[in-house]
Order: sequence, then structure tokens, then C-alpha cells
Amino acid sequence: MNKINLATTLREPTELVAHGLAPAAALADLEKVAARYAVAVTPDIAALIDRNDPDDPIARQFIPSAEELLAGPGENADPIGDHAYSPVAGIVHRYPDRVLFKLVHVCAVYCRFCFRREMVGPGKANALPHAAYQDAIGYIRAHPEIWEVILTGGDPLMLSPRRLAEIMAELAAIDHVRIIRIHTRVPVADPARIGAEMIAALRVKGATTWVALHANHARELTAPARAACAGIIDAGIPMVSQSVLLRGVNDNASALEALMRAFVECRIKPYYLHHGDLASGTSHLRTTLAQGQELMRALRGRVSGLCQPDYVLDIPGGHGKAPVGPNYLSPTNTQSREREQSVETRYRVVDYCGEVHLYPPIAMTDP
Ligand code: SF4
Repeated sequence: MNKINLATTLREPTELVAHGLAPAAALADLEKVAARYAVAVTPDIAALIDRNDPDDPIARQFIPSAEELLAGPGENADPIGDHAYSPVAGIVHRYPDRVLFKLVHVCAVYCRFCFRREMVGPGKANALPHAAYQDAIGYIRAHPEIWEVILTGGDPLMLSPRRLAEIMAELAAIDHVRIIRIHTRVPVADPARIGAEMIAALRVKGATTWVALHANHARELTAPARAACAGIIDAGIPMVSQSVLLRGVNDNASALEALMRAFVECRIKPYYLHHGDLASGTSHLRTTLAQGQELMRALRGRVSGLCQPDYVLDIPGGHGKAPVGPNYLSPTNTQSREREQSVETRYRVVDYCGEVHLYPPIAMTDP
């Protein structure tokens, strides 16, 4: 494995080429990609990339490619419809009892498949301006149905521990806000940021904090990343995972199995496996829904329920998440005589080996 040791984050295509992370012949195209979408590869992520492997699953997530210049059918700048549900800047209120609070627009690394790729990165405001922040807090305060606030962005753990602690305290002081959930990639992209001060900032009186870790390949859960997560969990903060199903990264049963086992070993409950969103220039990284369902079937045959995420699709237009299977249950085509006498529908149910069984095992008929 031909690894790389860096002192600083790489942000320019010329740096990627100079360090052997992208071919020189691709430079002109990569400059065009970088002019549109942010690039950042932290030293921790660069150290995971095998420069001898043209299909390296870590490189595929973070090293830009010319394919990003091609917009596929249906792709757009707001693939999950945040704008339609944003009553004030920084807030997305899609479901009654929870809001997204988009505090910052920067990340430690920039994922090539990001569903908010048109909204994050240099050139955008780094954080919500102060007046907009006050309006957003005012909106949450004025809506007693909001039980959960999900801090997202960008990556909220790019804030300083001092600023994060202030925001956490302000949210927790609102009586109806009981849960503060933080979505982050920092524990894998830059685990050194998760020090004692950051962990202290995550704990707050008056609300329960949950942390959702975004990782897509088991190799991202390095020893430092695991230590960062252990520090959060040892402080009494539960963690869940979220991953994106990505072509060439984790679209095989072995890779998904290793990822889910790694989460559970780290005391992180697998939560979501997202189907790739229709973000512009990401079709080369997207699977089909049928492939995703087949992989979820394979996963159920390999690992326990602890290791099973929900495979979900964010419905374009802002209509929220839907679990997209696979389905293990289907009604039988009972004979009409049996159907007339039956008091309960009989189903076919598929076990983890793919074998079909009937439930109830015997048709229930009127006595
Ligand atoms: S960390 Fe999240 S918000 Fe940032 S680039 Fe990756 S997917 Fe997008």
C-alpha cells in the first residue's frame, strides 16, 4: 500500500497531483471541478488512500473527478428539497417535531457525493450570520412542537468548542427542545478535533445530545477515529451512524458488512444507509435502488439485527425519508374458496437464506 503523510489539508488540484492523489493529465478537468465544488482532503484521510489502487474506496469519496462535470437526469442543486421547507435562513422544518439547524457551511473534508455540495465550502458564508442565527433560535423558541434539533451544515464540529458550547446551552434552555442531534464526519476526517473541550461542549444540561457519525467504509474507522468516538460515548453521549450507499465504495456485501460490524464494535448503532441523492454530478457514485435492496438482503443474511441500518431514500422535492426495503412479506394468492373462508390474510415471508414460508403456517378459517 502506497500511503501518504501530510502536515496540512490539501485543497487545490495541483496539490492532489503533486502528492500522487490525482493524475497530472486530469489537472485541467479537476480545476474546473474545484471551481464549482469545494475540495479538502485532511491528513488523516490522505493517509488512508492507497495511491497504487486506482479504485481505492477512500479516494473515490474525496478525490474529485471529471465525471462531476456531468449532470445526470433529474440531478439538481437541492436534491432533497431543503429550500421548500426553510421558513427562516438556516432552518429546515420538514417534519412537525424536529428541525435541521444548518449552522456552518464548512466541513473538514468535502465528499464528492455531497447532497449539499452547492451550499458548502469556500466561497459560501462560513457560518450563519449573527442576525440569521438569532432569527433561527427565535423560530425554534416560537414552535413548541420542536422536540429535536439536528445540528448539521456543513459540519457543526468545525465550530470551536467555545462557540458550540454557547449554542448548545442556548438550545437546551428552550424548554421544549429535549434532543440535540449532531451530524458530523469530523471524528473520522480529523479526529484530533475531538478533544476534551469539544466533548465537554457536546454535553449540556437540559437536553440529551446524540451524535450521528457519517462514515462509508470500514477503513475510515481508524484507531484515532475509534478513540474519538469512544471519548464521546464514554462521556455518556450515544452515537448512531449514517452512511451513503456508493458505487465503488461500499456497494458489495463484504464492504457493507465490515462497515456495520466496525460501527457496532465502536458502540455506534447503525442508523441510516442513504440511497445516493440526485445531487449534480454524482451519478457515477450512485447505485440503483434494486442493487441497494439486494445488498440489504445480503446484509441480513450475514450480520445480526444490531448491525442493520435502515435503507432510506430522501424523496426529491422535500417529501422526507422513506424506508425502501427490501420487503420480506407479501400476500399469498390464496384460492378463492380459501380466501372466502379465511379470517386472516396469509403471507409469504422470506427468511435470511432466501427461503419462502407461509404465515400463518395454517390458513385461519372461521370455526
Ligand atoms: S461532511 Fe457532510 S456536508 Fe460536508 S461534504 Fe461531506 S456529506 Fe457534505
